[in-house]
Amino acid sequence: MRSSNDIKLDDMDLMKDEDINNDINDKKSKMIISKMLNFKTDIIWYIALQLFVLHVVGIYGLLTFDYMKNLMTTLWIPGMYLISNLGLSAGVHRLWSHKCYKAKLPLRILLLICYNSSGQNTIYNWVKNHRMHHKYCDTDADPHNNRRGFFYAHCGWVMMKEHPEFIKKVKQLDLSDIMSDPVVAFGERYALPLQLFFTIILPTIIPVYLWNETWSRAIISQIFIRYMISLNFLWTLNSMAHAWGTKPYDKYITSVDNNFIYYITTGEGYHNFHHAFPWDYRSSEAGNNKFNYTTHFIDICAKLGLAYDLKYPSDEHIKNVILKNGDGTHPIMSEVPRPQ
Ligand SMILES: [Zn+2]
Ligand SMILES: [Zn+2]
Repeated sequence: MRSSNDIKLDDMDLMKDEDINNDINDKKSKMIISKMLNFKTDIIWYIALQLFVLHVVGIYGLLTFDYMKNLMTTLWIPGMYLISNLGLSAGVHRLWSHKCYKAKLPLRILLLICYNSSGQNTIYNWVKNHRMHHKYCDTDADPHNNRRGFFYAHCGWVMMKEHPEFIKKVKQLDLSDIMSDPVVAFGERYALPLQLFFTIILPTIIPVYLWNETWSRAIISQIFIRYMISLNFLWTLNSMAHAWGTKPYDKYITSVDNNFIYYITTGEGYHNFHHAFPWDYRSSEAGNNKFNYTTHFIDICAKLGLAYDLKYPSDEHIKNVILKNGDGTHPIMSEVPRPQ
């Protein structure tokens, strides 16, 4: 005869078996979805869900927000976008990833604050991904490999596990220079509270306390509309800037120059130039800096003594590269003027 304890144990075993079976079925269905969509790596579902909610609420907010009700709140959307973009463009991109210039401590602290208002990866992870992108561009070791499709390069890579080739090759990447910067080390240690404060709390509190905005309008405009726009504008550099445009400097690489991206990212859209000369602090040719506000910002910082050792190639060197590798769309190669 079976005792009640035996029954309980048997029931527990059955429940365990059921849980295991459910787990296996769950994993199987996720793998089937990945295979159906021809994904090479598995989806990270909680990130996919977060991005889905962000975009559903963000698009709804974008279409229904009363922009005329309080102009200060409306202006605060591009205002915060420009501040966070400065941390991305002048900070993690041109300073920490490419070492295009050197920055004194107060400027590095300012860039850390601006960067943390963008709600992105930690600086270490951002630099790691970006250096891998340049080193292994559009291969499986590139975190947002454009050959895996437009959607993957745009935002799919954020919600998917890293490719084994990336995991293998990233071990060879030297990032010691990044972690030897105490500002970056501080940013790594306090990444979560810094991001929570500068991405969510501060941008939302400012409209409420400085110009009497309601909490709901402050939250929808900053956490959903601004954050969604900011992410998508940045992602165009991984998707569109490796797909649609011209290759005046190097026709043998996938990155392109694209004026639309140049305007929405306020100066980062000459991506063919950037991949040809990644160490140029301007990220574009001298004559193409009208809307490159990151370059103007670095120039002002240089005048104030906060930025120094600004790197850029000579005009002669750029011209030689254009003549050797360009696709003929640059004005020096053809009579067609470049749109400004
Ligand atoms: Zn690129
Ligand atoms: Zn870059």
